[in-house]
Amino acid sequence: MTTFIPEDKVLEIKHAADILEVVSESVLLKKTGKNYVGLCPFHSEKTPSFTVSPQKQIFYCFGCAAGGNVFSFIMKRDGISFPEAARILSRQYGIDVPDQKISMSKEQKRLRNEREILYAVNRQAMDFFHNKLLSVPSGKQAMLYLNKRGISQETIEMYRLGYAPEGWNNINNFFQKKKISSGIVEKAGLIVKRENKDGYYDRFRNRIIFPIFNVNTHVVGFGGRVLSDKLPKYLNSPETPIYNKSSSLYGLHRARQKCRETETVYIVEGYFDLLALHQNGIQNSVATLGTSITTDHVDILRNVIGKDGRVVLVFDSDDAGMKAALRSLGIFMNAEVDANIMSLPSGHDPDSYLFEFGYESFVDIAKSAKSLISFLMDALIEKYGLTVEGKIRVISEMRETLSSIDDRVARSLYIKELAERVGIDETAVLEKVRELSFQNKGSARKNDFQKAEKGKFSHSKWVRLEQQIISMMLQFPQILSEIDERGILDFFEDNRLKAIGDIILTYQDRSDINIVDVINLIEDNEEKGIVASMAFEENKWDYDGCLNILNRFESVRNKKENTLIKKIKEAEENNDFELLSKLLSKKQKMAVLSEKQKMALLK
Ligand SMILES: [Zn+2]
Repeated sequence: MTTFIPEDKVLEIKHAADILEVVSESVLLKKTGKNYVGLCPFHSEKTPSFTVSPQKQIFYCFGCAAGGNVFSFIMKRDGISFPEAARILSRQYGIDVPDQKISMSKEQKRLRNEREILYAVNRQAMDFFHNKLLSVPSGKQAMLYLNKRGISQETIEMYRLGYAPEGWNNINNFFQKKKISSGIVEKAGLIVKRENKDGYYDRFRNRIIFPIFNVNTHVVGFGGRVLSDKLPKYLNSPETPIYNKSSSLYGLHRARQKCRETETVYIVEGYFDLLALHQNGIQNSVATLGTSITTDHVDILRNVIGKDGRVVLVFDSDDAGMKAALRSLGIFMNAEVDANIMSLPSGHDPDSYLFEFGYESFVDIAKSAKSLISFLMDALIEKYGLTVEGKIRVISEMRETLSSIDDRVARSLYIKELAERVGIDETAVLEKVRELSFQNKGSARKNDFQKAEKGKFSHSKWVRLEQQIISMMLQFPQILSEIDERGILDFFEDNRLKAIGDIILTYQDRSDINIVDVINLIEDNEEKGIVASMAFEENKWDYDGCLNILNRFESVRNKKENTLIKKIKEAEENNDFELLSKLLSKKQKMAVLSEKQKMALLK
């Protein structure tokens, strides 16, 4: 259960809890100098890179970049929220935390109450649908349908499947009798307001109901399937304050544990596919809910399978399934997640395949799952063939995907693979991809690769400068007002670093930055890791040293602006209007920022 923990209690827990003690419960630690090291619980390793600093009360893994304070350790270890972690620690250290919420704002209270009411309404609706499936004569047809699809009685119970009866007013009447306001039931997405008339009608009618749970086993929404071939076949809850389909995954609440153990997750597309997998012993699987895979999904999954975990997409072998897989390619690539795809024999979906051939056979195919990008190569070669014409088309369709890979080592490995597959000289493929990445980066010149490489180099130098600035903000708070007044963060290019900087600037007591508290203010796990890693740096900052870095930062920025002006002139001369408009809007953005900076100086 998630409840709010009052600020003063958080403080008390923070002072009482010792990170060394807490981590030692699950990790064997050895002292080295000021710190302790051990084998990381969040990724598999043979030499210890997981480091705990009792002095700073933080941990950081130099292998997988997980990091944070004692709260984030428990959150990550158990896959739970901050209040839940705080509660575990409070019990362990004998701190009495009342259930009541003292320091919540009115708005926070309202939102929290609203969410809890919606959870409760959904739970009652789930029980209503479930009972209808089990008892009423009309539920019999739905039950027969589930049986026909091979869904066992145990699965029906475990996933609380239900049935929304025929008729416009079943769930509506149910809640009216319970004196629950129609406004709330509508907000939960269960009923819909009638157009031009008073009253509401049931959203789900004559459908099998799949309750959708979040990780904390709250019912956040529902999916409904017709019993016939009527359209739409599937209907989901609309977006509500507690349901967001681009960050929900069906089956996650039951998959989590097995995902952690196996460091693998299977992703399927539908409810029945998911139930078939779970029923056949493949519990480390989840389903997307009528949407393609989003970055939110990938973030959630990476958290449960770990940074080195493996994703296996199990999509239908039809065209639609393949297209869905291809759409997700870029998202997985840039999240640096090992994504694979297994293709089932044509005519089969996971549900029908398991039904016919069973677990062993499915796992066999899964073993030979291909990486997404190899899969894409194969599919294109099959489509276009290896004639001269075909090879050209394969390369031209691949080059966009290849040029969107940020990691240069990975990119060159795939280029090599593609060159071998189509039997063309590697440098020729490389040339094609470079051409495009160069265009993407906004330069009209071709074959000017050296220049592009140079641009890339200075970009990483720039990010290094940004890192140094964040690091000084954390370790030398005297510099904070200087950074604030000069508007330094406005020019940051790395969004994560900027977000961390912004949080540090909101910190109340600027004379004394506490890393443990800063980590508490950050929600994003990777950002927590960045802060923890910086805390392990042993830099000695002084005022002049900091000013030097800030001045350098500003002068590089001004140079960037000058380069931009030069590029604009070039684009004008070449009549490259597309590039020109891109550059101009970039310039405008810079100008707005400089104006802001000037205003700040005048103040
Ligand atoms: Zn690690």
